[in-house]
Amino acid sequence: MSLFPVPAPDQIGEPFWAAVAERRLTVQRCPACREWTWQPKPVCPACGSPDLTWEAVSGRATVCSWTTPRPPVLPAFESLVPFVVLLVELDEGVRMVGQLVGDAGDLLRTDGTDVTFSIGTRVTLRWRDQDGQWLPSWAVDR
Ligand SMILES: [Zn+2]
Repeated sequence: MSLFPVPAPDQIGEPFWAAVAERRLTVQRCPACREWTWQPKPVCPACGSPDLTWEAVSGRATVCSWTTPRPPVLPAFESLVPFVVLLVELDEGVRMVGQLVGDAGDLLRTDGTDVTFSIGTRVTLRWRDQDGQWLPSWAVDR
């Protein structure tokens, strides 16, 4: 059994994880005011509409910030560190976190010092399989 913490989506977030299982990245969007919103919410934070829908996003983003988890970490992550966790801003305007991966979706074992990226670097969505759980992750554009 994997020690890796798996998502336990509630009713609001379940559509996100159902799409992730099909390797589709979706974000809530308001049909009334057209604002994108992340994380999952019951109503639009811009206009209060309760009719948010899930729409596919481009998978294109820009690095806003990043960090490198260092030991001690949860047991599930002990064999993975060092790696880089990115905060990216999707071209749709919402920000989410994800791991830095290579072009094939492989987790980059790095503390970030040997990877050419910085705040403002363009990244593209990749899918990483962590013990059977697909995770939206990000690779630096070449
Ligand atoms: Zn709205």
